[in-house]
Order: sequence, then structure tokens, then C-alpha cells
Amino acid sequence: MNKPNMHYAELKDSYLFYNISQKIKAYLAEHEGTHLYRMGIGDVSRPLCDEVIKALHGAVDDQAVQETFHGYMPEPGAPFLRKTIADYYASRGVKLAEDEVFVSSGASDELGDILDLFDRENSALVIEPAYPAYVDANIIAGRKIVHLPAGRENRFLPEPSEDAVADIIYICSPNNPTGAVFNKTQLKAWVDFANAHGSVILFDAAYEAFIEDETLPRSIFEIEGARTCAIEICSLSKTAGFTGTRLGYTVIPKDLERMGLKFNDMWVRNRTTKTNGVSYIIQRGGAAVFTPEGRRQIMENIRYYKNNARILTDTLDELGIWYTGGKNAPYVWMQCPNGLKSWELFDLLLNKIQVVGTPGEGFGACGEGYFRFSSFGSVEDTTEAARRIKELFK
Ligand code: PLP
Repeated sequence: MNKPNMHYAELKDSYLFYNISQKIKAYLAEHEGTHLYRMGIGDVSRPLCDEVIKALHGAVDDQAVQETFHGYMPEPGAPFLRKTIADYYASRGVKLAEDEVFVSSGASDELGDILDLFDRENSALVIEPAYPAYVDANIIAGRKIVHLPAGRENRFLPEPSEDAVADIIYICSPNNPTGAVFNKTQLKAWVDFANAHGSVILFDAAYEAFIEDETLPRSIFEIEGARTCAIEICSLSKTAGFTGTRLGYTVIPKDLERMGLKFNDMWVRNRTTKTNGVSYIIQRGGAAVFTPEGRRQIMENIRYYKNNARILTDTLDELGIWYTGGKNAPYVWMQCPNGLKSWELFDLLLNKIQVVGTPGEGFGACGEGYFRFSSFGSVEDTTEAARRIKELFK
């Protein structure tokens, strides 16, 4: 008889977004037609930039003509895009070989698939509060999870600890949900720790484009020693509005090896076995993000979102409410005022001022007492939400 993967039964139900949607539904049933100020969304709201749209149209036209038609693309990614991404890293001082860059259809897919490289006996360290997929993907594989709680005392940027050693280490910087960003010294401590213990860091750089402080690392490969202990997973979802278009990339240095096996070679083998690559059209669209005009245009959208974040943090500053994030990230993570629990604050904001955010408790137990606002909404809604928050807590 077939035996299913029984680890699925160990997954905790994720009530977070379900509960939020149920509460919103109930509120709207009673207050029909009320406008809600949705500061909880993790999806982008601005359309793709013109440069990307032009490239996508051009690629569609290529597919109509015998001479420019493309069938299967190379599984690890189109050479033109791998080179473009390697050049992007080089422009920031990080030297990569083109075949250390792999094109993916997004960070989520990759964060799940990449675990194929690791033995199921490996343990996985997750800094909490965390993006929920890190924990769930490892539970499904039957791995032991080592939880490292973060908090206000370390501004949600904990140091490595000999009490929390694991074979796989997740680091997300800029962080979802806290918006906190590791500086180079802090990240170097993690790189040294991973090298000392033979661990591999999975560095989630999905929000690197939101970093404006030039001293902060946007890639783990800006840190000496990372080539022997890290894999970087990145995405154009938030960088360039590709949440529905789907494109990402992963960097696996050739220096990363354990027990005589090179992770770069293993990933080539994995990709050629398990995928047929990302569509030519989408890869052309993705390459346009890295042209000078493409970069100028995507930065306009990022500045739009960052302005929303500033509207929120200015308000919290005025109110004297503690928070992290915002400046180098699209998320603002605030301490719930007046000792409220995160779901209590959710209810209060929804019922009193029609503002929707995300309760911190949904990102792990140590997120209790905190609340996430996202800056991906419209400037009009964000401005009005901030005004209402100020009125409520002044
Ligand atoms: N990693 C983090 C930290 C995220 O917040 C998200 C999406 O919200 C992802 C990965 C997934 O990104 P993608 O759209 O590329 O799958």
C-alpha cells in the first residue's frame, strides 16, 4: 500500500491569512461598501515598467518568426540572462562566473526546490519571526528545526549562538516580516559561524533592491568567506513587480562543497532533471530589469513604495511607537501600542479605523506583541491610514 509523506500531518495549519480574510469578510458583511486601508498585503500594486513590457512584447514577436523562435531554454537559465545578472553583481563589486547564476521562476519555488541538495538528516535553523515557508518546507522533508528567537533587544537581528547550531541556516535580509537588515559586521559573524560549523546559509535576498544605505550588504557574497558557505536566493517579484510574471535567480558558488560534492554541479544536475527552464519570453522581460533604463524605471516604483514606508515610520516616530524596518525595506514592524496583543491590535485597527495590517504572532511565537505594515499599497491609502493611526493613538 502506498505510504504518503506523513510529515504533512505535522504541519500546523496556517491560520494567519485565512483568519485575516475571515475577519475582513465579517466586517464588510456588517459594514457594506466601507473602504478598507489595506496595509497588510505582501503583493505589489504597481504595474510592470515600460522597459519590461517592451521586452516582453518583443519576445512574443520573436516566437512568431522562424529565425528568432525559441523552443526549450537551457535548464539553468538563458545565457543572456545569466550574464546580465552576473554583470549586475559585478557592478556592485561581487565577482561571479555566469554559470554560478541560475534562473528560476521565483524565490518561493527555489526555496522549496533547493532543499533537494541537503540530506534529510540535516537540521535547519530559522531566525524567528520568519517567512513561514522556511519552517514548513523543512517539516515536509522531515528535518529538525532549530528556532532562534529574535526580539527588540537585538533589533530583530540576532547573533549566531553555540546553543543554536544547525546544518542549514536561513537568513532573510532585508527581513520579511521585520524589515530589519543585517550590516556587514553582523553578517560576517554568521558567515564565520557557518564556515566553522560546516553549515550552509540559504540567504534570502528577495528585498535587496530596497536597501538605500550604501554601507549595508545587498548580497551575502559581499562578505568575505561566503563563497564557501552560502547560497543566495533572489527574486524580481518585489524588485520589479514580477509577482504574477514569475522570475528569480539563485547564486551557487563553485567553491561551495561538502564531503567532496559541489553544490553548483548538483544544482545543474537537479535542474536538468526536474525542470525545462523558464520561458524565453519571461527571461527577456527579466533581462530588461537590468538595463540602465530598466533600472531607472524599477527604482521609480521602489521609491514610490519606500515613500509609503516613510509616511508610516514618520507617523510612528511622532507617536513614539517603537519599530524596525521601513528605511531599507518595504515592511514596517512595530511594537503594538498599549501592551496590546497582535490580534487585539488587528481587531482594533479594523473596527475603529478600517486599517488592515498583519499580526506579528502569525510569523512565529516571538512575533507576539508586534505588527507588520507593508508599503505596497497606494500612497493615498497609506496617507489616510497613517492619519487614522495618528488620530487613534495620539
Ligand atoms: N522570500 C521572502 C522573504 C518573501 O517575502 C517572498 C514573497 O513575499 C518570497 C521569498 C517569494 O518570492 P517569489 O514571489 O519570488 O516567489
